[in-house]
Amino acid sequence: MNSSESTALIVIDVQNDFCPGGALAINKGDEIVAPVNKLMDQFNNIVFTQDWHPEDHVSFAANQPNSAPFETIELSYGTQTLWPSHCVMGSNGAAFHADLDTSKCQMIVRKGFRSKIDSYSAFFENDHTTATGLHGYLRDRSISNVVMVGLATDYCVAWSAIDAANLGLETTVVLSACRAIDLDGSLEAQTQAMKRAGVNLVETL
Ligand SMILES: [Zn+2]
Repeated sequence: MNSSESTALIVIDVQNDFCPGGALAINKGDEIVAPVNKLMDQFNNIVFTQDWHPEDHVSFAANQPNSAPFETIELSYGTQTLWPSHCVMGSNGAAFHADLDTSKCQMIVRKGFRSKIDSYSAFFENDHTTATGLHGYLRDRSISNVVMVGLATDYCVAWSAIDAANLGLETTVVLSACRAIDLDGSLEAQTQAMKRAGVNLVETL
């Protein structure tokens, strides 16, 4: 089924800043690179996402008065977690991990490029309304099944998977090819949220 034309592998944010040594390093984030490369052999359709922020991005604690990374603030679209400055567009931190095989990727969705709004999901920015265009791309290619891997399980992967399921896509997350930030219980909370949305959670394919 994976090799069918109606299925796509979505590789979320496998970028230097989310790997050890990066600005927003996820514990053992680089461990997923090899399994993700291997998984790509099973798919004909492959999409990458890339977190891609301007330096004045609203989600950077450095751009908010009296704020520290991992605190939250209230913005017009809801609660926003503040992060260390990361994935600044064009920087080495925003580049894909050097060992990630990018050759089979057909489409790169960049997200978070507007200063005033963050975008965890591959489908919608954090207002849950502004579309990235990925849904239209998948629809135009008659892709109805998505398999997701990447960083981080409890943020960009979970938000993407929940949106995909809510859009009616058959959605699977391969947990062995994801790693989590796990901030204040976020991994457990987002695992439950994915289950409620009907996302299939599997260890391996
Ligand atoms: Zn970001």
